[in-house]
Amino acid sequence: MDILKFGGTSVSSKDSLYNILRILSSYNSGDKSVIMVVSALKGVTNQLTRIINLVNNKNNEYEVVFQEIKSFHADFIEKVLPLNAQILMKNMLGLLEEEYQAYLKELFEQGSVTARDKDRILCFGELCSAQIIRMFLEVNGINFGLLDARKVILTDDNYGSANVNWPITRKRIKDFFRVSPGNYVITGFIGASAHGCTTTLGRGGSDYTATVFATILNAENVIKWTDVNGIMTADPGKVPDSYSLNKITYDQLLCLSKFGSNVLVHENSIQKLQQDNIPLIIKNTFNTNFEGTLVTNTTNTRHKAISHHTDCHIVSFQKNLKISKEVYNQIKANNYLFFRIKNDQFNQTDSSVYLVSDECLKYLSTIYCCKNPGCNSCKKPKDSKVIYESITLITIATNQKDKIFEEKRILDLLNKKGINILCTRLFKNGISLILQQEEAKDTLNYLHNEIVLRTEEKVC
Ligand code: ASP
Ligand code: MG
Repeated sequence: MDILKFGGTSVSSKDSLYNILRILSSYNSGDKSVIMVVSALKGVTNQLTRIINLVNNKNNEYEVVFQEIKSFHADFIEKVLPLNAQILMKNMLGLLEEEYQAYLKELFEQGSVTARDKDRILCFGELCSAQIIRMFLEVNGINFGLLDARKVILTDDNYGSANVNWPITRKRIKDFFRVSPGNYVITGFIGASAHGCTTTLGRGGSDYTATVFATILNAENVIKWTDVNGIMTADPGKVPDSYSLNKITYDQLLCLSKFGSNVLVHENSIQKLQQDNIPLIIKNTFNTNFEGTLVTNTTNTRHKAISHHTDCHIVSFQKNLKISKEVYNQIKANNYLFFRIKNDQFNQTDSSVYLVSDECLKYLSTIYCCKNPGCNSCKKPKDSKVIYESITLITIATNQKDKIFEEKRILDLLNKKGINILCTRLFKNGISLILQQEEAKDTLNYLHNEIVLRTEEKVC
């Protein structure tokens, strides 16, 4: 059995939905279930996040954004469903929309949104997409049931990045499939706490939903259907010679995905699939001929890949700034880049120095705002100093054995080229280089040529 996970872009166009029909028909299921986990339609979770911020800021523009989501769903329904199914679907979503409109109004009047409210709002996208996709399959002669994951995935109440209670979830999923075997469309991203409140598993959490089902139902593979040809050796927009990899290890994927690869895979998913030794195949819904990037624990690969993350800053925080657990939680839930680097070369002896992505800096600035009267929004958190702006983080995911040798070689190569590396950091399966943004493109191409292509020649 495979667990198929379809991301937002994969479920948001007519062409990709027809490709999904073809993909599903290749599963001659027999007595094995076919399970597809779906994300919200493209961009919907981001819009829901905007709504949360607007409601929190007592800005009634949230109503406009909610209308936009409603129209987006309605337009999509008109594109992909025949008339009679459109009416049915609009009625079904209409009920949910009304419930949400009333709920948002209540929160707006109340003037604040708690972490628990946020998760209840965020789940709206998956609740809608799963219903639309299930109906689309039905009108095309493929009968799938709908499973709201909140019925089976039990989590703690760590809203925004909830942890799965494995023993109970395991029992519930096993019981569910024993009593009602069959093929299902399942809502990604969401679970429920013991009190029955909706929780979310962190941004990109549908991968984790697929992982939960794969682990419990002993799936052979998880297939992540995306809108690109798997993991590439580098960003094709910056590195024209880049190409798709057919194989990569979980350690490498973890390293790349965390630091800006072309495909993001939810961190907890990578760790769990790695631990349970379940292969992950990253495929392209828009190009079903592409065989996919296979991710396993096998280490007999010398393939290398390079990811990069632009728009970062080097920021020093005074040591007395205590970052709360809740803030760390949000950083994790949103996959923000935020990690400590050595402070010796930055002359910041009584501060801690961090590499922080622009979006993370903005988030921290609102949390640790100076709170002075008249301040609309601080540009940086209090007690912090931006040492360098516009920084790029380049990460080379390599084989663990090569690492030390590679670090020296890489620094020598870049030194000869006159590229100034501000700082490096070693990870389990990768090396990160921190440099000024304007040097990034040349550096990426140079490294790709020297590290990726040269090694490839040796492998062949
Ligand atoms: N819709 C959620 C998000 O955009 C979950 C997912 O797509 O995996 O983060
Ligand atoms: Mg999404």
